Amino acid sequence: MRASQLLIPTLRETPAEAEVISHKLLLRAGYIRRSAAGVYTYLPLAQRVLSKIKRIVREEMDRQGGQEILMPIMQPAELWQESGRWDVYGPELFRLKDRHGRDFALGPTHEEIITALVKSELSSYKQLPLLLYQIQNKYRDERRPRFGLLRGREFIMKDLYSFDADEAGLDITYRKMYDAYVRIFQRCGLRFRPVEADSGAIGGSDTHEFMVLAESGEALVVFCQNENCSYAANVEKAQSSELPKPVAELLPLEEAHTPGQKTIAQISKYLGLPESGLIKTLFYETESEVVAALVRGDHDVNEIKLQRVIDCARLELASEAIVTKLTGAPLGFAGPIGLKNVLVIADYEVSVMVNAVTGANKADYHYKNVCPGRDFKAGKIADIRFVKAGEPCPVCGGVLAEAKGIEVGQVFKLGDKYSKSLEATFQDENGKTRHYVMGCYGIGVSRTMAAAIEQHNDLNGITWPAAIAPFHLVIVPVNVKDQALMDISEVLYRSFLESGVEVVLDDRPERPGVKFKDADLVGYPLRLTVGKKFLEEGLLELRERRSGKTHFLKEEEILSFIK
Ligand code: ATP
Ligand code: MG
Ligand code: MG
Ligand code: MG
Repeated sequence: MRASQLLIPTLRETPAEAEVISHKLLLRAGYIRRSAAGVYTYLPLAQRVLSKIKRIVREEMDRQGGQEILMPIMQPAELWQESGRWDVYGPELFRLKDRHGRDFALGPTHEEIITALVKSELSSYKQLPLLLYQIQNKYRDERRPRFGLLRGREFIMKDLYSFDADEAGLDITYRKMYDAYVRIFQRCGLRFRPVEADSGAIGGSDTHEFMVLAESGEALVVFCQNENCSYAANVEKAQSSELPKPVAELLPLEEAHTPGQKTIAQISKYLGLPESGLIKTLFYETESEVVAALVRGDHDVNEIKLQRVIDCARLELASEAIVTKLTGAPLGFAGPIGLKNVLVIADYEVSVMVNAVTGANKADYHYKNVCPGRDFKAGKIADIRFVKAGEPCPVCGGVLAEAKGIEVGQVFKLGDKYSKSLEATFQDENGKTRHYVMGCYGIGVSRTMAAAIEQHNDLNGITWPAAIAPFHLVIVPVNVKDQALMDISEVLYRSFLESGVEVVLDDRPERPGVKFKDADLVGYPLRLTVGKKFLEEGLLELRERRSGKTHFLKEEEILSFIK
């Protein structure tokens, strides 16, 4: 490619809208342009980087037996109603209507569509395991789209869904995906850590997040400093392991987890409390009451979702009242506070889904990241320990450290959550009808590109890992009016192209200083300068972008040096 014809609109100034380095550099180096908040056009350079990441992802998915498909972005609401997520997903789900008034969602993820597909196309255990994936645009109306490609509202994700006959099968598939993710992020040249994570709102048991370590990360990761120990956890998860010993027992789990919507009366009964006014005000009756309480500042909650229907799978009753009961602390407000709280409200049926910090209205009675079923086992609080930076590692006793992380991927064991709600079944060896045991595995492809820049940059621009750089090399003739320089540049350019080197010839009539600056900004791993030294001594200057090392080589040495 010739720079004179390439669309690489580099900017001298950093656009004011950009806060983090990847966003700044993607704009300045001419990779992306904003079209709306969290929505971007990928220009040729970005498209090349994305293709390289996608290629690595595809190779590793295929290696593990994944089959690529492409599912619709536009998904009928009926499927989402069947799975229960139409009501539960909240404002992050983009919704639209067709001309007949039918509801659709723009896929934020594709569990529904794929489960419906497998339900209609498969019927026997003999066809399992089945691993299907796609690389597709995803849509999430993020509350705070920001940091450029790190948190978009339209972004590119690879999502794979696995269908196994049983848990043992899922374990194997999960491991395969975990290994594939390790290889993918290694091949992309990233420093990352797989961490134990909480399954959040998707609903599942086992899950790991893949975190690229970078200051701009929105997640906090604790990990063991001992090189031989792989313990690492998302702080939310780590905190869930730090519950103080309970003084009382939790309700029997089966009761607390009875599916179905619960009335205030039922909740009160579960809690063993009289159905009093107190409970009613404790569990706000209406959305407006909750909002009013929030406005008054009764709660320190930074994410609230008001939902009409309770997500049964995650209907958690570990509310303040339970903790109060557990701790013996006085009954009073002890609302869920912290990062990931979701108040689930359904008319008069109200529950608090606690996934963060909860506690009684008293010092030392706050439990972090409470999640019944995980932290409260069979009616008792699991015996768990304190984990944070500086503390001993729960696995090896080494010292724990803390770092910021960007979540570039996540693997989930979904179990039968979706196969049950969508009634997707197969016949097992004995002719018995069973639900698929599923997993889902996502990688943020566009986020990975940005995360790579967060880790690989310097004052002059991007320092791409070679495997995902948009080109391998740029040839810079220092004076395009000098025919001798241009002739040799052309010869080199052609020989690179022939031998498969991805090369740009900077044939623009610009000063060398401008070209060098652009070359650094864009981040070509190698720059070949064709200048005076060539005319005088027959030497070309090859400069490595990342290390700044320069080599003076003869024309015939260049190719073998690069290869
Ligand atoms: P986050 O915690 O950052 O909101 P998530 O846990 O909601 O991400 P998943 O549902 O696990 O995201 O989706 C799989 C992957 O898709 C994530 O690991 C991430 O790499 C990517 N991803 C999710 N949301 C976005 C977004 N808004 N912009 C870009 N990439 C995203
Ligand atoms: Mg999210
Ligand atoms: Mg997440
Ligand atoms: Mg995630």
